[in-house]
Amino acid sequence: MASQETRQRKGGAPPKSGDAGLPMTITKSAGSAATGVGGTANHLKLAMVKPVVKMAKVKRNKFGTGPFDEHWLNLDCCGLFCASFTYMLHAYGVYATCLILIPPWMSTVDEDGVRTISAIGHLNRVAFTLVALLAVWAHFKAMTTNPGAVPPDAIPLEEANNPDTGANGEGKGDGKNSSLMVEDSAQPPPRKGRRLCRRCNSFKPKRAHHCSICKRCVVKMDHHCPWVNNCVGIGNHKYFLLFIFYTCLSCVYSLTLVLMRFFDCMGRHGHIRTHHITCLDRPTQLMNILGLVVEAILFGLFTCCMMFDQASVVTTNLTQIDRLKGGIDGGSSGLAGAIEVFGLNPKKNDTGGRFRPDWLSPFHHTCFPSSLQDEIMGFCRPCGSRRGNGKDSGDTEMSPMVRNGVADIV
Ligand SMILES: [Zn+2]
Ligand SMILES: [Zn+2]
Repeated sequence: MASQETRQRKGGAPPKSGDAGLPMTITKSAGSAATGVGGTANHLKLAMVKPVVKMAKVKRNKFGTGPFDEHWLNLDCCGLFCASFTYMLHAYGVYATCLILIPPWMSTVDEDGVRTISAIGHLNRVAFTLVALLAVWAHFKAMTTNPGAVPPDAIPLEEANNPDTGANGEGKGDGKNSSLMVEDSAQPPPRKGRRLCRRCNSFKPKRAHHCSICKRCVVKMDHHCPWVNNCVGIGNHKYFLLFIFYTCLSCVYSLTLVLMRFFDCMGRHGHIRTHHITCLDRPTQLMNILGLVVEAILFGLFTCCMMFDQASVVTTNLTQIDRLKGGIDGGSSGLAGAIEVFGLNPKKNDTGGRFRPDWLSPFHHTCFPSSLQDEIMGFCRPCGSRRGNGKDSGDTEMSPMVRNGVADIV
């Protein structure tokens, strides 16, 4: 009986995303919340009972962090300001480096006063702009990617592996409708064995923590970063690491150029020659250079510290919250942490780890070996909820998609 119900649950169709914007009608058999232990007779009896229609309003926004919102984006004003400020800082860095710092230095001026940027000048401009763009794109992906919010239809692994465990069967087969029961206060909590979040009332896997800003439980939540305007969790950890890495790289790059230019300007002559080609075109440009130096030092140090901190997060596989709470059983080897962040495939030909060549690219998703997907997330979902990459259906809730043996987090 239990296995039959399990099959029914896994084959259950998910709530259609297109219906989410309207008051939704949930048709449930009377007393279904209290069944699950009954036999065939009960099912036959329930099939003859007139369905009880319950209404639940599900709000669906274009942007938001709710399970039915189309695109993941935290609408916190402070976070949006910090994210915009981050983009402006990178834009200023590109402006000051490529248009103020390099042209008077890596160029030649002919007799008519026409300046020609040298090849090395063009190379540095392209390289610096590329690093800044990678940082900005990684930031954008970190901000707009679901960090690993537990979906409403999440099923604890223990229940999926052994449907007879837990409580007395309450809630069996409710996977497809559980998402719509959040506002139905009359419903009893599903399964006594489930660990529920006191704030969002959803199933809370062992490694999940509730974020009061996103208002969701996030798997492997490290912290809520105002600069990224999002939680840093299992779903966007790679993008966050790439963002601080490329930001730190751009700071070091610009500082190196400033120092090289400074010594090039005064080194040969022992003093700063304001009219020399390697020095400033105009004295006012000094303010731009100083602004660049302050920005590079401040954010270079900040991101450098973050990188050291995150290195310990990856190598210990314990997030900052886990460490504050004294650690959890999930703490494991650095390889396991790297797998979760960068999506290494440790089973390649059974000869050991395999680094994904695209792990430095913010244009690629984090991928896990499919065999580890549910174990990493701490829950599974009804098969019917695996509905593509989430873009076609407009549903941006984390939807594991198995493709060629690799499950993507999208
Ligand atoms: Zn929660
Ligand atoms: Zn958050």
